Amino acid sequence: MSSPGLVNPIPGALQINLSAIYNQTCPACGGRVDESFAVSEDELRLLLNAVSKQLHEDLNPELINQLLFAFTSGKLMEALNANYSATSMEWNSPDNAMLSYLRNNIFQFSAAKSLNQQLQMAKLLIDDNGKVKSYSQFKKDVTGVNILFNKRYMLTEYNHAIATAQMNSKWVDFVNDSKNNAFLVYRTAGDANVRDSHAALDNFKAHINDLSWNTIYPPNGWGCRCNVLASSDSSGALAGDEAGIKIKGVVKDPIFQNNSGKSQIIYDLNKHPYFLNPNAKVSPLMAERNYGLKSIQKIYANANRFPERIKTLENEAELNKFWSDLSTKSKSTPEGSFSAKCAITNRLVLFDNELKLKFISKLKKGDNRLRDIPNMIDTVKSPDEIWTTRLQNKHGKSDSLLTFHLKFYSDEPLVVVSETLDNKVIVKSVYSPKTNIIEIRSGILEYKK
Ligand SMILES: [Zn+2]
Repeated sequence: MSSPGLVNPIPGALQINLSAIYNQTCPACGGRVDESFAVSEDELRLLLNAVSKQLHEDLNPELINQLLFAFTSGKLMEALNANYSATSMEWNSPDNAMLSYLRNNIFQFSAAKSLNQQLQMAKLLIDDNGKVKSYSQFKKDVTGVNILFNKRYMLTEYNHAIATAQMNSKWVDFVNDSKNNAFLVYRTAGDANVRDSHAALDNFKAHINDLSWNTIYPPNGWGCRCNVLASSDSSGALAGDEAGIKIKGVVKDPIFQNNSGKSQIIYDLNKHPYFLNPNAKVSPLMAERNYGLKSIQKIYANANRFPERIKTLENEAELNKFWSDLSTKSKSTPEGSFSAKCAITNRLVLFDNELKLKFISKLKKGDNRLRDIPNMIDTVKSPDEIWTTRLQNKHGKSDSLLTFHLKFYSDEPLVVVSETLDNKVIVKSVYSPKTNIIEIRSGILEYKK
């Protein structure tokens, strides 16, 4: 298991220029421009002001501008939410897991994009004599970078989020329904934009388990409009080498040589230029250094604004009663367990019997979580911060996504750690963090109150 971490750009790293890359259109369908997305002149001006001012004052491109991060992640989450149609949201439904991975991917992408953009702007801070430019000159000089990243690149990235959200929610449905409809058929948009040389892929049919879908599942390029339909009819289906020959060379861009439904991503973080800065070092993003959040000490300088905890449980018997009351009421979960829904992400997590047994065993060893347990549901439902870390599993296994729900109570914070794995989202631990709060507040920040 290895964490992809985040590219942490340092001054002097290579300039990112995506114009040529994003201008490549899908070989199969010719690409599209979705006019539904627009960045207003007001939005662009606000971003330019906020980012240029922060960079000029702090001279620190590693500090992610909050407005910029919220703008990028907000637009992309909007594209995801409007275009992903979930059939079922339960603690063990594939849609619940898929959306957790895609959300993490969007916030990771947004952080990396912010850092790259700020780095590119920071290179314009110094004039030819080695002096820091005046603010008005600097702002003028970075106007182009602002338009490039937040208007032009954003349009392509937004359209890609729409296409991938649609195709990934379809993939979940295809897998669910593969007993009835085991074959998939490739469909181009079928209009004048489709290139003759690649129209051959139209109506390509193969079994859902055929390896060809690892390479040609749409989207297959920036602006791709291609689609896939499910079918029960095996006639004309290709398989193995025969299918391999048919699809060979169609998808040339390595970024698109994957099945985003299987890899559960929107942007390939191993291949996208935002993550490939050759002079960059890989490191986790930190709450204070990179996201500009307050330290826990500063947050707790004014602790009386936080809610008090619900009354503590007194002993093992009370813990058992607390657990069985909740699990009896919960119909859609296994015996001895119950689920809770995060109001921020709509994600369902399971508190299972194994977790209860873990608490009891800890209690016997003198590690008392009785005061944490009554508050863990509220921490999941309405957290103050949400942090995630996706650990890449190789060899075809599903990735492990760790989610940290953090809530501030008047005495001290509480964290609930859940893991998304093999389509299940299960709480692994609940505790009041002491020395490791800095590690918890690192990685991908998905929410702060
Ligand atoms: Zn296409």
